[in-house]
Amino acid sequence: MIQSLLIANRGEIACRIIRTARRLGIRTVAVYSDADARALHVRQAHEAVHIGPSPARDSYLCGDKIIAAAKATGAEAIHPGYGFLSENADFAQAVIDAGLVWVGPKPHSIRAMGLKDAAKKLMQEAGVPTTPGYLGEDQAPDRLKAEADAIGYPVLIKAVAGGGGKGMRRVDAPGDFADALTSCKREAASSFGDDRVLVEKYILSPRHIEVQVFGDSHGQIVHLFERDCSLQRRHQKVIEEAPAPGMDEATREAVCAAAVKAAKAVDYEGAGTIEFIADASEGLRADRIWFMEMNTRLQVEHPVTEEITGQDLVEWQLRVASGEKLPKRQDELSIDGWAIEARLYAEDPAKGFLPSIGRLKDLCLSSLARVESGVEKGGEVSPFYDPMIAKLVVHAGSRDEAATRLARACDTVVTWPVRNNAGFLSSLLRDRTFLSGKATTGYIGESLDRLLEAAAPMEGVLETAASLLFREAGGSLSAIDSEDFPSKPGQIWNDLLGFRLNRAPHESMVLLADGNLVEGKIGTAPEQNIGAGSIIRGTDDGILIVDRGWPHLFQLPRSSGATAGAAGDGAITSPMPGRIIAVEVAAGASVAKGQKLVTLEAMKMEHTLTAPFDGIVAELNATPGAQVSEGALLVRVNPS
Ligand code: ADP
Repeated sequence: MIQSLLIANRGEIACRIIRTARRLGIRTVAVYSDADARALHVRQAHEAVHIGPSPARDSYLCGDKIIAAAKATGAEAIHPGYGFLSENADFAQAVIDAGLVWVGPKPHSIRAMGLKDAAKKLMQEAGVPTTPGYLGEDQAPDRLKAEADAIGYPVLIKAVAGGGGKGMRRVDAPGDFADALTSCKREAASSFGDDRVLVEKYILSPRHIEVQVFGDSHGQIVHLFERDCSLQRRHQKVIEEAPAPGMDEATREAVCAAAVKAAKAVDYEGAGTIEFIADASEGLRADRIWFMEMNTRLQVEHPVTEEITGQDLVEWQLRVASGEKLPKRQDELSIDGWAIEARLYAEDPAKGFLPSIGRLKDLCLSSLARVESGVEKGGEVSPFYDPMIAKLVVHAGSRDEAATRLARACDTVVTWPVRNNAGFLSSLLRDRTFLSGKATTGYIGESLDRLLEAAAPMEGVLETAASLLFREAGGSLSAIDSEDFPSKPGQIWNDLLGFRLNRAPHESMVLLADGNLVEGKIGTAPEQNIGAGSIIRGTDDGILIVDRGWPHLFQLPRSSGATAGAAGDGAITSPMPGRIIAVEVAAGASVAKGQKLVTLEAMKMEHTLTAPFDGIVAELNATPGAQVSEGALLVRVNPS
C-alpha cells in the first residue's frame, strides 16, 4: 500500500480523500492557490504546498507545479479528485513518467474516453448501444445543420471535448440551429480549448442513469450498480440517488453488463462511471438505454453508491493504485436501502441561480445528513472555482424516507450571507413528481416557477420577523397606539423611512424583507409562528430567518438602508466579477422586457443579463472581451 499521497484538488473532494487516506495511515499532502491559503483541505492534510495564484490555470491546472510539489514532499502517489486535471491523460502520463503512482486509470484509457465522438465510436464497435447522431470530422456549419435536419429535431449539439454539463445546446427547430451552434462553439473554445461538436438526437423524456465501475490491474472489472442523476438544472446534476427508481432487475442487469463491457473495451483500472441516457417515456427499458460517455475518475456523486453498498470508493481507488486486487468480487456486492445526495451550491435561486460569493459569516450544514464539505465558518466562497460548497447525503431503508430526511436536512442549512440553493433542494425533495420517481432531466427547467414559489417569505415568517424587529426596536404594543408613533418609542424609530401603518396601529408594521418594503403583522408570540424546520438568527444587518432552507433577511426600513430601489431601476450591473463575451444591443436601442442585453462569463458559465422592462438603452458600458468587477454598471435601460 502507498504510504503517502498528494491530493491535486481542493474543496470537499480534497477533504474527502484526505479523510480516507488518514484512516488508512497514509501521509497526505495538500496543494493550494492564493485564494485557498486558509482553506480547510490545507489544514486537514499533514503538509501543504503553495502552487500559485488563485486562477485555476495558474495553480490547480499546472501539472508541472503539482508534480514538483509531490517530489519536494516525497509523496509517492497523486490523486486528482474530480475536475481540474483528473481526466487529463497527458498529466497522468507525466505523473507516471516522474516515477509517481497515478491514482486513476491508465492514460490510454482516459484518452480513449476523452472525446465524446471517439468514445461513442469505440462503444459502437464494442457493441454498447449509443444514441443516434453525427460524429463526423466535417465541422462546416452547413454540414452540421444538414446532419441535424437528417437526425430530426430536437437535437443536441455537444462539444466533443465537453464536460460538466457545459458546451451543450438543445435545438428544437431548424431555424435556431445556427445561433445555437455559434454559442456552443464559443463556450467550447473558451472552456475546453476545442470547438468541435457532435450532434445527436435529443431524447425526449430522458433520464440520466449511470453505472459505477471499478477495475484493477489484475484484469478484474466489477460494477457497483446504478445511480440516477436525472434531476439536473441546465445539464448540471442537482440531486442524485442510488438505486434508480423504477429499475427492475432485468434492466439493471442489462445496463450494468453494458457498463462492464464498456470498461473492458478500454482496459479500465480504478474508479469510472459509464453514463447512459434512457428514454423513460414508458419507464426504464433495457432496449431504450444508450451510452453517453464515460467519466474516467471518481464522480461527485460517488457517496450514494458508497451508502448503498457499504464500501469506501476512495479506499478502493488507493488499494487498486497500490496494485492490490479489487476488495470485493461481483457476487459479494449488493444493494442495501436507498441513498440520495443533494448538491449545495453557493448560488441564489431567486436571482436566476447566480453564483454567490463572499465570507461565510454564519455556517450551519446539517447534522441530519452525511455532509461532505470543504468549507467552514469564517471561510470564503471565492469567484475562482466551482460554486458547490457541500454535498448532503442521506441513506435510509426506503426512497421516501431518504427524501424526507434529506429535505429536513436542507431546511436548516445556513451559509449567510452567501446565498445557497437549500430551499430549492428542499422544495425538490418534497415535490410530487420527484417522489413518484418519474422526473426526467427536463423536469427542473419545466417546473422552475413552481419550485421557486416557496422563495417568498410566508405570512407566518413575516409576522415573526415583524414582531421580533418590533421587540428589538424597543417597541411595545401600547407604545404604538398613536398616530405619530414613529417618533415615540425612541431614537431608533426616528430613522424610519416611509413608516406607515396601513392597518389599525398596533397590528402591523412596515419592514424590509429581502430588500422589499412589506407589511407584517405584529404578534405576541413570534417564535410560534414558524415551522419546526426554521431557524432564526441575529446578524449584523438584521434578523435572518431560514424557512425550509430559504434565507430571508428582515430589517427596519431606515432612511440610510438599502431599499428595493433596484427593482424599479433600469441599472443592469454585473452580478459578479467576469468577462463580457457578447453585447446584444446598441446605445439608444429600444428593448423589450426580457430581451438579451449582455452575456457575461463568470465562474465558468455564461450568464445572460436581460432588460427588466420595455425601454431605451440609455447607457452602455460593455464591450466584448472586457473584464468587469462585481457591481459594475453595464447597461442602463430607461423606461419607454
Ligand atoms: P457532460 O460531459 O457535460 O456531463 P453529458 O454528455 O454527460 O455531458 O450530458 C449531460 C446531460 O445532458 C445528461 O445527463 C442529460 O441530461 C443531457 N443529455 C445528454 N445527451 C442527451 C441527449 N441526447 N438527449 C437528451 N438529453 C441529453
